[in-house]
Amino acid sequence: MKKLLSVLLLTIALSGCGARTDGAPVRRTVFAMDTVMNLAVYGEDAAEALDAAEAELARLDALLARDAETSAVSAYNRGEAPAVAELAALIGEAEEIAAATDGAFDPYLGAVLALWGFGGDDTHHVPSASELAAAPRLLDLGGIAKGFAGERVRGVLEAYRVRSAALDLGGDVAVFGSKPDGAPWRVAVRDPADEGAYLGVLETDGGVCVATSGVYERYFEENGVRYHHILDPKTGYPAESGLVSATVVCENGVWADALATACCVLGADGAFALRERLAGDIDFDLILVTDDGAVRWTCEGFVPKTGNGYVYEPAA
Ligand code: ADP
Ligand code: MG
Repeated sequence: MKKLLSVLLLTIALSGCGARTDGAPVRRTVFAMDTVMNLAVYGEDAAEALDAAEAELARLDALLARDAETSAVSAYNRGEAPAVAELAALIGEAEEIAAATDGAFDPYLGAVLALWGFGGDDTHHVPSASELAAAPRLLDLGGIAKGFAGERVRGVLEAYRVRSAALDLGGDVAVFGSKPDGAPWRVAVRDPADEGAYLGVLETDGGVCVATSGVYERYFEENGVRYHHILDPKTGYPAESGLVSATVVCENGVWADALATACCVLGADGAFALRERLAGDIDFDLILVTDDGAVRWTCEGFVPKTGNGYVYEPAA
C-alpha cells in the first residue's frame, strides 16, 4: 500500500495535461512484486495488451521472488543452474552493474537481507555481527526486478502494437512513445518525507525509465533506531550515505532501477562521480535528496515544486 500514493500522483500528473486527440489511455492496476502497479496504455489493442502485460508481471513475479520456494531464483540459491535463459542473462547484467558501481549494487545480499527480515517473512530484527559475517552469498534481485519487469512489459505491449504507455511499477516508472496529444509526459517524483507529496515533476518526451529508491520504502525500528532495507554491501548494515532517496533517469530500465539502489549506498558525491564515470557508456540523470533537506539534480526536464521546505540545487 505504501506505493499507492505515488501511483495516484503519477496518474494525476499524467491526466492533467490537456485534451487528447485520440482518447484517454486504458488503465489497469496490478499487484505484483509486493507492489501496486499502474499501467496506462494507448492504442487500439490496449485491453488485450494489458491482459498480456498482467500475465507477464505475474510470470516475472513467480520467476524472480527470492522467498517463494518455487521461484527460479530460489532454485538457483539451492545450487541449481538458472532454470531459464532470461534469468541467466539478468544475473549477468546484475553482475555487470555490480562491477560498474564498485559493488555498491550487490545482487548477492539475499542471506544478509533475510537476517534482517527484509523480503522474507518480515520478522525484522538486528542481526549480530557474527551472523552477518557468516551469511552466504545468495541471489536477491529485489533491487533490479521491477526495472527488468518494466523492460519486459514494454516488449509485450509493443507486440500488441501499443505505441505509447506509462508504466508505474511503484517507484519505477517507464514512459515510452509520445503522448497522443503531443504533450510531454509528466512523471511526479515523490517527496521521500511525505507519501502524499511530490518533489517536482520530470517532463520528458518518453523513452526513459525513472527509478526511485528510498530508505523510507521498507524499514523497521528496534530500540528507537530505524533500520531500512537498502544495505551497504561493505558492512551488511543499512546504508548511511546521507541520501534519503535517489531517482535515476535512464533509457535502460534495468540500469535505472539498479543504479537508484546503488546511489542510495554511494551518497551524493559518489552518485555524481559514478554518473561522470559511466557517461558515454550508460548515460543517466539524477535527482537526489539528502538527509538535510537538499534536492540536487542533473536532468533538464525536472521542474521543482516550490514552497515545500527543500533547498533545490541544480548540479553543474
Ligand atoms: P523497492 O522499490 O522495492 O524499494 P529498490 O529498487 O529500492 O526496491 O531496491 C531495494 C531492494 O534491493 C531491497 O529490498 C533488497 O531486496 C535489494 N537490496 C538492498 N540493498 C541492496 C544493494 N546494496 N544492492 C543490491 N540490492 C540491494
Ligand atoms: Mg532499485
